[in-house]
Amino acid sequence: MKYKLTLKKIIKHFNVVNRHRFKVFCLCCKVGIPIQGLLHDLSKYRPVEFFESAKYFTDGKYSPIKNCKMDIGYSKAWIHHKNHNKHHYEYWYDYTAPMECAPIPFKYFLEMVCDSLAAGMIYQGKDWHQGYQLEYWKKAREKARINDDLKKSLDQVYKEISKEGINKVLKKSHLKEIYTKNMKTIKKS
Ligand SMILES: [Zn+2]
Repeated sequence: MKYKLTLKKIIKHFNVVNRHRFKVFCLCCKVGIPIQGLLHDLSKYRPVEFFESAKYFTDGKYSPIKNCKMDIGYSKAWIHHKNHNKHHYEYWYDYTAPMECAPIPFKYFLEMVCDSLAAGMIYQGKDWHQGYQLEYWKKAREKARINDDLKKSLDQVYKEISKEGINKVLKKSHLKEIYTKNMKTIKKS
């Protein structure tokens, strides 16, 4: 498929980014990190990320990064994004370190949960349901190079959300409980 950058795609992509960021902000407020929510994903406005994703924008139902990877085999936007945003577990991955998957600090763990939920809601639109994230995570978790203790935390968070919904589970104290219970790798970071 030939992808071209057009003004229409620029506007549509800009719109999806803003809607995603606003949703993340709302969820971050629920878990008590409003400032982080406000600053979430600002690197998406950098030219290296913005124009590639606008070019590869299709219908706003999934990430344009996926299209770019399918087209040329990699994505500069994604490489830039994961290296500048601590809420992505890929940021903490280092295959040369004794601990390949470093544990993500609690505040970024919170942002990661909000980010994944918001992405699902924006991309799925009216098809989104509270079990969606668990379904998505079940497929992603095998390949995910993420700290094992955190994997267990995410298992629990998404399972609980699928049963009880976002409002009950997305509370800072409750997520802290889950995080500390599973986090055996490191005591303090
Ligand atoms: Zn991000």
